[in-house]
Amino acid sequence: MNNTNEMEVVFDSCSANERFARVAVAAFLTQLNPTVEEVSDVKTAVSEAVTNSIIHGYENEIHKISVACRIEGDKFLIKVCDTGKGIDDVRQAMTPMYTSRPDLDRSGMGFSFMEAFMDKLEVESQPGIGTTVKMEKTIGKGRHLWTGQSL
Ligand code: ATP
Ligand code: MG
Repeated sequence: MNNTNEMEVVFDSCSANERFARVAVAAFLTQLNPTVEEVSDVKTAVSEAVTNSIIHGYENEIHKISVACRIEGDKFLIKVCDTGKGIDDVRQAMTPMYTSRPDLDRSGMGFSFMEAFMDKLEVESQPGIGTTVKMEKTIGKGRHLWTGQSL
């Protein structure tokens, strides 16, 4: 496939970098000519995954987070990786409103948002090794409905 493009950023798990990560991803996404809504969906999903690595994976210690993006035609793929404490039960973690940290006023909706705003979500995690969140979204799905039509 020749219409592919990749980038990866690696940064410290401090909360200032939540914004950096979503802006970096949004800047890379621009080349697919996304709608404002598509950009906002992707930014929200990236924020949720990166925040999870910071709060849950590293429990606010500073370690590295990697965010890798790949474009395959009109498909946008994102991988957020940490080498933090990992998740014992991924299925339970992905249940809407499940949080292991009600003490921090978390609502347990991060994975649900990622699922809602992206087309595909996959979570791989090993306790003590780390967590990888993979997401996919096809950009410009509605576009073809409009071209060539006079309304
Ligand atoms: P919210 O995102 O609504 O603030 P939350 O972070 O608890 O709350 P989710 O993002 O859905 O909710 O995550 C559910 C649970 O999965 C977390 O409470 C945590 O136990 C676990 N989890 C998620 N991401 C990671 C990660 N990167 N490392 C370790 N545990 C994680
Ligand atoms: Mg969360």
